[in-house]
Amino acid sequence: MSDFLPYGRQSVSDDDIAAVAEVLRGDWLTTGPAVTRFESDLAEHTGGTPAVAVTSGTAALHVAYAAAGVGPGDEVVTTPLTFVATAATAALHGAEVVFADVEPDTGNLDPTAAQAAVTDRTKVLAAVDYAGHPAELDRLREVADSAGALLLEDAAHSIGGSWRGRPVGSLADLTTFSFFATKNLTTAEGGAVVSPSAELVERARAFRNHGLVRDRDRQRYPDEGAWHQEVHAFGLNYRLPDVLCALGSSQLRRLHAFKQRRAEIHARYDEGLRDVPGVLTPVRRPEADPMWHLYPLRVLDGRRRALFDHLRAHGIGVQVNYIPAYWHPVFEDLGYSRGLCPNAEAYYAQELSLPLFADLDDADVDRVIDTVRSFFGA
Ligand SMILES: *Cc1c(COP(=O)(O)O)cnc(C)c1O
Repeated sequence: MSDFLPYGRQSVSDDDIAAVAEVLRGDWLTTGPAVTRFESDLAEHTGGTPAVAVTSGTAALHVAYAAAGVGPGDEVVTTPLTFVATAATAALHGAEVVFADVEPDTGNLDPTAAQAAVTDRTKVLAAVDYAGHPAELDRLREVADSAGALLLEDAAHSIGGSWRGRPVGSLADLTTFSFFATKNLTTAEGGAVVSPSAELVERARAFRNHGLVRDRDRQRYPDEGAWHQEVHAFGLNYRLPDVLCALGSSQLRRLHAFKQRRAEIHARYDEGLRDVPGVLTPVRRPEADPMWHLYPLRVLDGRRRALFDHLRAHGIGVQVNYIPAYWHPVFEDLGYSRGLCPNAEAYYAQELSLPLFADLDDADVDRVIDTVRSFFGA
């Protein structure tokens, strides 16, 4: 058996390593100029939307909900077909999470289901760009506006993508990114919140840094002394260090190449698997220019688990994205039961993510295709 093929893997270049080493030799390991630079570099990929770098995609969600003022008594409407953090971070702020079902083909939040789920207590409508394919952002915007809620886009999969020609990051009130090792670009661990609203950005920055207010004009006790800083609302330490921001800036220079290579691999899987009876290949809306983070193959006739085991046995790393969030016992214990979102559950039952990362070569893609085909006798 040849070596194990992972389902996702970082691509780190000599330039990336040099950028990190340079910071390690300098004066600022954290809260220095590389942070500001990374935030402005990020804005070049989001239509100029200001960014706040944080320590993970999960931190970005926690910060975004804090900036939105989410708290007890509020509802956050979201999709169950996501990593649990999209919902968990809202629950940690004391909000009630309301799951709305997904579209059966894209796996993205269904605007009609979202419309039925919002109430006058809905503070945030949180969509996820599943697999890197942007959600129905225009219709979701209407739903959020009609409910007086903010629109949040969990873009952990989709930095570099666009919807109707508008880049991800410029579409929602709050957009969150993850720079975990297997995502589209990486800072090892890291994330960001971006928002076109100066007020939301300021609240996000404050929550990232303990809620500290250093600006004398905004202090309650400005004459205390030059050392003085005060906390007006609780926050945490979610600061992404310069060391990792330098890696992020360096990786961003290759984002376009990453996107292109991911699209090539995606197209090669489509081509190689489209005619296989027993699977469905992913769909794309005409409005969407996805950044393909996942290749979510759907396996029919209850054979997903058998194909998963078959591929793993052949040294091919596959994943399932995602167990419906409310199936986690923590939500089950809060009273959420199975059957709540039938489309998401049906999608989950069929889904299998094939290996997809920028350094994956065509020979390995073809090996995956051949192994899937042989499983089906195709
Ligand atoms: C990865 C991911 C997160 C969390 O990001 P981390 O950087 O791993 O904390 C949140 N939402 C989605 C959809 C993700 O894929």
